[in-house]
Amino acid sequence: MINIQGLVKRFNQVEVLRGIDLSIEKGQVIVVIGPSGSGKTTLLRCLNVLEVPSEGIIRIGDQALDFSKRMAKKEVESFRKKSAMVFQHYNLFPHMTVLQNVMEGLVTVKKEDKGKAREKAAILLQKVGLADKLDYYPNQLSGGQQQRVGIARALALEPEVMLFDEPTSALDPELVGEVLQVMKDLAGEGITMVVVTHEMRFANDVANEVLFMDQGRIIERSTPSDMFMHPKEERTRQFLNLIK
Ligand code: ADP
Repeated sequence: MINIQGLVKRFNQVEVLRGIDLSIEKGQVIVVIGPSGSGKTTLLRCLNVLEVPSEGIIRIGDQALDFSKRMAKKEVESFRKKSAMVFQHYNLFPHMTVLQNVMEGLVTVKKEDKGKAREKAAILLQKVGLADKLDYYPNQLSGGQQQRVGIARALALEPEVMLFDEPTSALDPELVGEVLQVMKDLAGEGITMVVVTHEMRFANDVANEVLFMDQGRIIERSTPSDMFMHPKEERTRQFLNLIK
């Protein structure tokens, strides 16, 4: 489903991703952990081409982009539709209702007519437990509810891969569970997911594999139980000791 080869990302002269190679099978849930600044967010953003990689090839589904070559804008646009991102700070449109937020991508990106888009958006909002909040504005919702809108909005684009960038780290502790539950339900449906999170319980319960990143590289990759109980690398051990 996803294949990454030799992915390098530089900001100015600084190499932030230093040669990432990674394959992810369809339906897998991959959790990415690692210290702050290790490149986790940049990796997700490169997958969605919110950041343009400096080098490397990324394939998602049937389309590959080779970032050492020039490419047409159209090619990048169609590639970006293969994944959808859920952001740490939700990034909802404040002047639009919940329903409009979820419809927006359907109407502008997928060019669906408004009636159909409204119907689809309502179904998705029901799925994330917000059927009674369609006409609310984001600032009338709790953080957990806003993030569930963020998830519905990403799902509306029918991506092949869902990318989650620390989706619960801006939430008060009592609101984390409701968002993780929605993510668990999605995982149960077989949606391919790449999740940057510090929620080790979620990783343990839901992830097929956990990746540990440090200084722009994938240092270790294994099942959650191996990663948490028997980490191989010293750096992984140190990191896990710090967050326990
Ligand atoms: P993580 O998600 O693991 O905390 P990031 O991917 O956010 O790490 O950041 C990795 C490194 O890249 C950090 O040193 C960060 O300062 C740098 N970085 C991220 N985005 C930019 C940017 N737009 N411009 C310059 N440096 C950036």
